[in-house]
Amino acid sequence: MDIILLGPPGAGKGTQAQRLVEHHGMRQLSTGDMLRETRKADSELGRKVSDIMDSGGLVSDEIVSAMIDAKLGEMGPEMGAIFDGYPRTAAQAEQLDEILAKHYRQLDHVIELEVNEDALVERITGRYTCANCGAGYHDVFHLPAKEGVCDKCGSTEFKRRPDDNEETVRTRMQEYRGKTAPILPGYEARGIVSRVDGMASIEDVTHAIDSILSR
Ligand code: AMP
Repeated sequence: MDIILLGPPGAGKGTQAQRLVEHHGMRQLSTGDMLRETRKADSELGRKVSDIMDSGGLVSDEIVSAMIDAKLGEMGPEMGAIFDGYPRTAAQAEQLDEILAKHYRQLDHVIELEVNEDALVERITGRYTCANCGAGYHDVFHLPAKEGVCDKCGSTEFKRRPDDNEETVRTRMQEYRGKTAPILPGYEARGIVSRVDGMASIEDVTHAIDSILSR
């Protein structure tokens, strides 16, 4: 089963994708994560990607679609894919159709996480992760049980994404409204879109997604 998780930054796509990986053995394909790896490289591409990500703009369609194509090429047909943060433009949506056909796969569900945008800035600017294991935390909504110590692995090192500041978040939301939301009607015409209340608790959102997948 291949699915797209769609929603503005901070809607909870990454959190839910990780839970789908744990519960259903699917594979998370996050172009944001792939690009964060790319930007670490001391290369022209790494610097270009860094600049775009820090501004909140979108990296070129060709770059992200090539990454998705390569990852799907490494996956067996039995392993379901969760597209997280991809596609983000009409061109990427078209490219995804071509890539899926090439790998003899098809899209089963597009799940839109609906959220109140005003709440997103607070969600995003307060989030951070364990630098060792990647577990997610939040300054207000989800502190570790023991201050400064990761619940999962005990590490005391944490990190924040450089693009999780208010200014960049606003640009990322504009990009979502202007370029990503318009791809939904095309999927709606195919009858594969479901909507979930992304403001509900993490557990409830997971439950709602699970019931869509078991339909
Ligand atoms: P994310 O982790 O999904 O919030 O992505 C972080 C940043 O990576 C975005 O603000 C974009 O600059 C870039 N990015 C991630 N996925 C894509 C994509 N599919 N197309 C273009 N840029 C992307």
